[in-house]
Amino acid sequence: MEFASKPIRVGQKPESAFKSVIFPIYQSSTFAWDDLESTPDLEYTRVQNPTRRALESVIAALENAEFCTCFSSGMAAVMATFSLLKQGDHLLIASDIYGGTHRLGVAHLPNLGIDVSFYDASNPDSMREAATDRTRMVIFESPTNPTMQVMDIAANVLVAKSLGLLVVFDNTFASPALQTPLEFEVDLVLHSTTKYIGGHSDVVGGAVATKDPQLAEQIFEFNKNVGCNPSPFDCWLTLRGVKTLALRMERHCKNAAEIARYLEAHPRIRQVYYPGLESNPGHTLAKVQMNGFGGMLSFDLDGSEEQARALAKDLSFFILAESLGGVESLIGYPKLMSHAGMTEEERLARRITPTLLRLSVGIEDSRDLIADLEQALKKLG
Ligand code: PLP
Repeated sequence: MEFASKPIRVGQKPESAFKSVIFPIYQSSTFAWDDLESTPDLEYTRVQNPTRRALESVIAALENAEFCTCFSSGMAAVMATFSLLKQGDHLLIASDIYGGTHRLGVAHLPNLGIDVSFYDASNPDSMREAATDRTRMVIFESPTNPTMQVMDIAANVLVAKSLGLLVVFDNTFASPALQTPLEFEVDLVLHSTTKYIGGHSDVVGGAVATKDPQLAEQIFEFNKNVGCNPSPFDCWLTLRGVKTLALRMERHCKNAAEIARYLEAHPRIRQVYYPGLESNPGHTLAKVQMNGFGGMLSFDLDGSEEQARALAKDLSFFILAESLGGVESLIGYPKLMSHAGMTEEERLARRITPTLLRLSVGIEDSRDLIADLEQALKKLG
């Protein structure tokens, strides 16, 4: 089945009772047993639920995986992958990673006896120097937040496999419409489904997909035992959102490319970070490992911090808010939002200056979005 058909057709046959065309929300905490001779397929919603199962089959199909488990948030999905580690193990995290993953690694894993250190995913060989004889897992992502650096997935996997590591990849920023990391021999791919998969900024969720039955079983058991399962309603909302993923991503990519080109030519913009620009150092690699360049971009204003803050407030189409991947355009200020937890020195090392702004480009008409940026930039003089 082709990609765009999968979220509409996989796992959602009209249900048996009323032939409802749209897969129902099975808002039930528990399911009846026929007898005591055999355990029913479904027992209890913390463990599994039909609406969740439908969503999981869709995400597995989109990622070309065999298995998927959905979670109540992207962070629960990250923690599920970390739960494969045990006391005494060592985890390698790419230094350019989502702030929550960084925080979870640094603040919680050492309490469980798991050591964490960082490596530079743009230089996969640095994994060798950072690894110890206790290293069991590596986690990385691409494009990275907020400067949209494109990491070579195949090269990172090659080094990780030579060290015998389990490879976890966070595919939230690209979505499976643009990149399917399991094709590059990644072991586990995870999502904050809150973003492009849900696509409408109305539900928080996460997912972990894999081809490996044993890993899948462990991830499923973590969800069952910890109870970080999504509600049937949240699964249904995500299932509804994901149906238009292919269409939305086309528009996200088109709008982001137009905006990136507009900003690149603007005299008040010092730097635009978007892999779709030919001037971007990750452009050639992105063309190889992605089917499109995504809806996320950042830009550095040629001006003061006050002007960058004023610009973020002077926009009307771009809403000043955290998160990304929804149909509506958002603007973020990484210094005070996604990367507020870092020191100024750590931020500057990642080119997160006080004049850096991040856009999650929505699917509105790009003319409106560019006009909005134009009027706000004009105010700067
Ligand atoms: N991974 C990435 C790349 C993210 O951007 C986020 C959230 O912004 C997460 C994981 C965590 O997801 P959630 O907020 O759904 O817990």
